[in-house]
Amino acid sequence: METSFVIAKFGGTSVADYPAMVNSANIVIANPNVKVVVLSASAGVTNLLVALAEGRDTEVRSQHIAKIQSIQYNILEQLPENPTLRTEIDKIIANIASLSEAASLATSPALTDELVSHGEIMSSKLFVEILKEKQKNAIWFDVRKVMRTDDKFGKATPKIEDIKQLCCAHLKSLSSHSIVVTQGFIGSESSGKTTTLGRGGSDYTAALLGEALNATQIDIWTDVAGIYTNDPRITPAAKRIDEISFAEATEMATFGAKVLHPATLVPAVRSNIPVFVGSSKAPQEGGTIVYNTNSITSKLPVFRALALRRKQTLLTLTSLNMLHAQGFLANVFTILAKHNISVDLVTTSEVSIALTIDTTGTNTNGNSLLTKALFDELSTVCHVTVEEDLALIAIIGNNLTSTKGIAKEVFGVLDDFIIRLCCYGASTHNLCLLAKSNDAESIIKILHNTIFEQ
Ligand code: ADP
Ligand code: ASP
Ligand code: MG
Repeated sequence: METSFVIAKFGGTSVADYPAMVNSANIVIANPNVKVVVLSASAGVTNLLVALAEGRDTEVRSQHIAKIQSIQYNILEQLPENPTLRTEIDKIIANIASLSEAASLATSPALTDELVSHGEIMSSKLFVEILKEKQKNAIWFDVRKVMRTDDKFGKATPKIEDIKQLCCAHLKSLSSHSIVVTQGFIGSESSGKTTTLGRGGSDYTAALLGEALNATQIDIWTDVAGIYTNDPRITPAAKRIDEISFAEATEMATFGAKVLHPATLVPAVRSNIPVFVGSSKAPQEGGTIVYNTNSITSKLPVFRALALRRKQTLLTLTSLNMLHAQGFLANVFTILAKHNISVDLVTTSEVSIALTIDTTGTNTNGNSLLTKALFDELSTVCHVTVEEDLALIAIIGNNLTSTKGIAKEVFGVLDDFIIRLCCYGASTHNLCLLAKSNDAESIIKILHNTIFEQ
């Protein structure tokens, strides 16, 4: 029989302070199949580091560094006296100070990644000691030894085959005799420089390591007891989904359900590894299991969940040359690809294309994707109109394109709103609407009430 090998990932709130770390450590200890632990930075630390990397004056720098130090010292000081660990944390803080000073003179994406990586390094160093205090054989492991990526600092792409080989060479055997505690989010390019996988990327790290190590399950421990029919912060009446297919959960993550980083399920689907999502504060409440459709025991519902993605920009590209012409779409998408723009929604008419672009800036360096160079190049083939302050509302489900009455159920309750664009038909799993940002939450609440609360 296949032996169980679980990767457990704990997000920022699950390692925010000493009590949170203890809850998380207890979860690790309660399941002897957890062999590798992937951690985020303590809540708040990455945001402070990102701000430092943007370059701040001396006073703001010292305030930010003091905050980071206080978050980590609060944990350190509740552990038994450990001069070695204290020296290590102090060295890391000193390093943050000197890199922040460098960033105040000149920022760079590589420097940003180097700087922000310290958050995960510190939380993982502290967590190992908590496990050791509980008499567990735990070791700290620098994930950059195995998490090989390209050099797109801020949002690097992992190199799957390299990661597999490196995990076999450096990580697998360690996990056979100790609990390996490592970092999410960070990696390294081929010359050894630190990279990051983009904001929220620790979920993705867990899935990548899970795939490389042939894990039997990936556990994502966060601050909610699973995946809900909508973000419970927006819709308190949201209900937990006990089991969900990879396809549905992927749509949710892609269209804004922050509970999973959008890329997390890619390795899980590829290698068919179930993903569990639960709350580290209340593990007894259970959670959601995401797996293959064949494993789902309940009937797949037509409507499963709603998701919201803010900060959408709509570009309308018009060209009279498009009338009865060929190649316009190809031209436009070639230009977008050249400028690293990924398009979310697309609709077309005879002479125009409308497409949405996410401008949330999920990379750590926060540079705008919509550059002058992009607009200049697009202007050579078409007229461009830009609309901002929009939000994408995704209705996620099953067989949406082969079920009668979907449009009536959705649009029938939205008379009071302007729906700027609608995408339906490319996937049986979603129907997407684009609306004004200010209307988005009201739309979600009305839809949630009609679809899930009646
Ligand atoms: P972590 O730091 O543990 O990675 P995140 O803040 O990234 O945690 O993700 C957890 C948050 O995701 C929840 O607090 C919740 O507000 C949000 N969220 C968004 N959509 C959903 C959903 N459909 N189900 C559950 N949580 C959701
Ligand atoms: N610490 C990183 C962030 O805040 C990665 C993560 O938590 O997943 O984005
Ligand atoms: Mg997250």
